[in-house]
Amino acid sequence: MTFVDAQPRQSTLRAREQLSQVLSKVVDKNPGEFEFHQAVGEVAHSLEPVLVRHPRYVQDKVFERLVEPDRVISFGVNWVDDRGEIHVNRGYRVQMSSSIGPYKGGLRFHPTVNPGVLKFLAFEQTLKNSLTTLPMGGAKGGSDFDPKGKSESEIRRFCQSFMTELYPYIGEFTDVPAGDIGVGEREIGYLFGQYKRIAKRFAGALTGKGFKGGGSHIRQEATGYGVVYFAREMLATRGETLEGKTCLVSGSGNVAQFTVEKLLDLGARTITLSDSDGFIHDPDGIDSDKLEWVKDLKNVRRGRIREYVGAFPRATYHPAVAGDEHGLWLFQADCAFPSATQDEISVKDADNLVRGGVTLVAEGANMPTVPDGMDRFAAGGVLYAPSKASNAGGVAVSGLELAQDMQLAQWSSEEVDRRLQEIMKRIHETILQTAEEYDRPGDYVAGANIAGFVKVGDAMLDESPI
Ligand code: NAP
Repeated sequence: MTFVDAQPRQSTLRAREQLSQVLSKVVDKNPGEFEFHQAVGEVAHSLEPVLVRHPRYVQDKVFERLVEPDRVISFGVNWVDDRGEIHVNRGYRVQMSSSIGPYKGGLRFHPTVNPGVLKFLAFEQTLKNSLTTLPMGGAKGGSDFDPKGKSESEIRRFCQSFMTELYPYIGEFTDVPAGDIGVGEREIGYLFGQYKRIAKRFAGALTGKGFKGGGSHIRQEATGYGVVYFAREMLATRGETLEGKTCLVSGSGNVAQFTVEKLLDLGARTITLSDSDGFIHDPDGIDSDKLEWVKDLKNVRRGRIREYVGAFPRATYHPAVAGDEHGLWLFQADCAFPSATQDEISVKDADNLVRGGVTLVAEGANMPTVPDGMDRFAAGGVLYAPSKASNAGGVAVSGLELAQDMQLAQWSSEEVDRRLQEIMKRIHETILQTAEEYDRPGDYVAGANIAGFVKVGDAMLDESPI
């Protein structure tokens, strides 16, 4: 994915040199933070033509400034389990950029959370939020707390303690967190309750709230629905629809559930789901009754996906195995929607998907495909949407929730869904137009990276760097 001229001009050499210097600095200043290096490297690959065309980005060191978080906040979170034992976790908030609006991005509770993962997510979030056209900066936060196996009251105590520490750094005009892995409506409810207890005021300092507690219709559904709306736009460029398509979906949490729901609505059939222990394959497809069963399993009973085969015996369960080939991506299908976590599609997986007939990959999870896997999709002629484009629906509706909070209004489901569809369509158009403008027609990766960067970059040029 490098840009090679026969005789590079001075401006090209300067741009190339700056991008490579920034990458080296990111690696040196953030040792061992591989996900962050990967995310920055992937974006840098797209930016050379932009820096060549707009030398002020080079002169004002916009990319170098963008990859340095405004601040990284780290705090201890002490909490007490049901037996009275004290536990100590670490909480974080990475505030990446507020150039185009208040910091905005989810909270992740998962044992793999560390500063590198959060910097990668906050960096991606900054460009994603820019694509939504809403005025939102980029951030991400969370904790290495593992919600699995914790009782309801342990989760509540942890959330309260976490918010007590996070409180000084957030607010409706400062930084507005939302959910992510391990943080759904229940956790947002506990976090928001504690926020109000301390603040003594109701303010849209968190999104993803339940509707009765000041949230927006369609927020829960937004990421999954948005991914499918984006996929619909992509297929339309080839004169195709989702009707009758067979789909592979990974994960079984929020994004996966509502991806499957919208795919069903649009006439497609999903045959897989997973969690970190393994995946299920249902050759008959996951219909709406089965999906309701999965929602109850994951959101109410907090069970594991392997239980699916007990309820639906024609399905098979496949435990996760170590290595860089994941069985879920081996099935023949038309479309794939990775919706679990980062780097879940290796190069081998990407090859298997192409061999299995997949012609569209739309990412629900953040950065689920390794960079060389993206190249395999490009070589295989696969319509490939990177996460910062296809999963922007979640944060877009979070932005709409914030707007409703500010007006003390609550719009109807139809209204929010209409706006979500419009936003996904607009993101799709902007990306393709930008890709065309920079001589990368049809390249969703370049289009998303460049369009996301240019808006933030222009806002940075208007600010004084010091
Ligand atoms: P979630 O409701 O917590 O579900 C996460 C799912 O992914 C679960 O099935 C989980 O399985 C699985 N998973 C998590 N870590 C895994 C790992 N290391 N290996 C294999 N499976 C793993 O979270 P979510 O909100 O759906 O988020 C899923 C992805 O979408 C994440 O990449 C997130 O950043 C991205 N995303 C979410 C939103 C949103 O609005 N929620 C918006 C944009 C992007 P276990 O139950 O075994 O952990």
